Amino acid sequence: MLDIITSLAEIFRSQQKQLYMVGGTVRDVLLHRGEAADADLATDARPDEIKRLVAPTRPSAVVLVGERFGTVRLHYTTSIVEITTFRTERYNSESRKPEVCFGDSLEEDLSRRDFTINALARDPLNDHIIDLYNGRQDLEDHILRAVGREPDKRFDEDPLRLLRAVRFAAQLDFTIEPVTHEAILRQAAKLQKISRERIRDEMNKLLLSRHPDKGLNLLVELGLMDWIIPEVLELRGVSQRPHSSITTKDVYAHVLRVVQRTPARLQTRWAALLHDIAKPRTKRVEDNKVHFFGHEDIGAHMARDILKRLHFDRSFIDSVSLLVKLHMRANAYTSDWTDGAVRRLMLDAGTNLQDLLDLSQADITSYRVDKVTRAAARVAELGERCQHLKEEAERIPLRSPLDGNELMAMFGRDPGPWLRPIKDHLLSLVIDGMLSPDDKEEAAKIAQTMLNDTDN
Ligand code: ATP
Ligand code: MG
Repeated sequence: MLDIITSLAEIFRSQQKQLYMVGGTVRDVLLHRGEAADADLATDARPDEIKRLVAPTRPSAVVLVGERFGTVRLHYTTSIVEITTFRTERYNSESRKPEVCFGDSLEEDLSRRDFTINALARDPLNDHIIDLYNGRQDLEDHILRAVGREPDKRFDEDPLRLLRAVRFAAQLDFTIEPVTHEAILRQAAKLQKISRERIRDEMNKLLLSRHPDKGLNLLVELGLMDWIIPEVLELRGVSQRPHSSITTKDVYAHVLRVVQRTPARLQTRWAALLHDIAKPRTKRVEDNKVHFFGHEDIGAHMARDILKRLHFDRSFIDSVSLLVKLHMRANAYTSDWTDGAVRRLMLDAGTNLQDLLDLSQADITSYRVDKVTRAAARVAELGERCQHLKEEAERIPLRSPLDGNELMAMFGRDPGPWLRPIKDHLLSLVIDGMLSPDDKEEAAKIAQTMLNDTDN
């Protein structure tokens, strides 16, 4: 990757054009986050010139991209390089998107970037770092600071920056410095100007980060969550015990821990965030015990509404909602479950089974070590039984011992509505382990009894 960048920089220089590594690329190099598979570069050349200049490096594809034109994306065998013409920006506060104009100076381009750690540039030909806003120091101190003297204005210009601040804090485990923090608090409501899709994409990055609990907590503290998922705010102070007022044990704290404990997959993390979302609405105290009857069903509906609002696609919404709906059943697993009960859970979870098991494993956040150990062992056992039954079903598929044709031949009847209930019943006996999938004789007897019953 770095040799491609160097070649590009040499070509650009030979034509009196500038070419710098910028933004996240420089940040990640200085943080030693390893070499990324893509790089952002900035230049004073215009897109047409960029296209012409890059030809000798033989990219496999050259594409003009971006909601705002001006970025040329180059595909190479193992990496992607994006070259963007320097920009100056004008803001129209009525419009949802900033208007962008081409600029000629790196300095101006850097001044319109969001945070000091993202406003660094690096000359690939001499490794010189251009650092106009003390970004290097902030990087060392793990601090996020808005570029420029007017953070309120910067967030107003493009309110997505409000969310980007939190997302970077969650990815890098950085602290938002006080002046920037205060500005975000003041500007939080401007998030309403941002499209749902852009909010969704930032939320996904935040949830997949190394510290989603920190990110979520910041969203709440900074008043941003009100405009994203206000339902999450209701989780605060909802105690899972009758008399407890300890906030470290409220549903909110629990949910954050569950999210943090799940593997970094989008479906699992969203399900973790939403699995107890209906607890505040279903809480009842009876006989000195706290209940949340039906919270998984109401929660599944709420999850659907929340994700729809954020314009997720249908299949993603279905999966997350299903995980919320099933989480209590997985949590309720005990060793005495029959194979049939395990198979039914597997069938209901379908392709989401691994997510469900991971969610269930993460859902154990008790502070009592013995409880945690026992619960974790239970989920592990459920996982092993699922694996075993899955392998078995691969050898002998779960199906009715008699198919439609066999039943019709056996009873000399034409196809019709009499078939379905018999086949369903035979299949459900197979699932429950009461009938072997190849036991045609026993299946025939059962079918005969059912037919007699309906004929009488
Ligand atoms: P990553 O790609 O790892 O998520 P990044 O810093 O590269 O992080 P990008 O969204 O790829 O983030 O943006 C590249 C650079 O463009 C940023 O580092 C920043 O300098 C600038 N930038 C991106 N979005 C904005 C914005 N909304 N306002 C100001 N500057 C921005
Ligand atoms: Mg980037």
